[in-house]
Amino acid sequence: MSKKVKNILADKTWNPVTGCTKISPGCLHCYAETICEWLCKMGQEKYKNGFNLLLHEDSLSEPVKWKRSHHVFVCSMADIFHEHVPFSFIDKIIRTIMLTPQHKYQFLTKRAERMSEYFQHRKIPHNLWLGVTVESKTTKNRIDIVRTMNAPVRYLCCEPLLEDLGELNLDNIDWIIVGGESGSEVRPMKKEWVLSIEKQARDSGTAFFFKQWGTWSEDGVKRDRYVNGCTIDGKLYQQFPE
Ligand code: SF4
Repeated sequence: MSKKVKNILADKTWNPVTGCTKISPGCLHCYAETICEWLCKMGQEKYKNGFNLLLHEDSLSEPVKWKRSHHVFVCSMADIFHEHVPFSFIDKIIRTIMLTPQHKYQFLTKRAERMSEYFQHRKIPHNLWLGVTVESKTTKNRIDIVRTMNAPVRYLCCEPLLEDLGELNLDNIDWIIVGGESGSEVRPMKKEWVLSIEKQARDSGTAFFFKQWGTWSEDGVKRDRYVNGCTIDGKLYQQFPE
């Protein structure tokens, strides 16, 4: 039943910003914090500030050098719309995205209001997908913001899913990713919460991607996340937006 978890959502990460601060229930066991602090201890120059926010001008042109086309997750060690990332710096990131139409890019934020403010008077590149994290009922307002964005793909990332989200309005939402939390002190994710989202996605024609159970398994037991896998009742759900 178990399948190995692998990242098939994006094949590259690009980190012109590193570091962040917590703003949401989903931030409690932030993996980016753990990794940034570990890389700092390992003496990596880019992570010399640990999880304190840092802008990396020297990383801005990285995607221009990539010969093959990639699906790029932008700022996996930060929230690109963090209040300390100036709009002028996001402009530079967008410039690189527009210069490299051979790549597809994904932004994911918990700061949906700031994303909306940024794009209010700016065009969204045709190769940029915009997403918001929706891990609990209190964060569902982010869905209303992302659905209004004129992006080629608008998506929700319900990871780590912390409770039953109840009824979802999925108008203008192209894709939903769901996943559980990993680590030693993780919060469980229940199967019925996942199935409720899957059904609503199916009913509304929204692509549904189940990423992983995390440390709590489908049968409510804590195990290694690789053993718990990414199937529901033995079935993979790995749809992508068209
Ligand atoms: S917004 Fe994302 S990167 Fe920032 S603390 Fe929360 S989980 Fe970590």
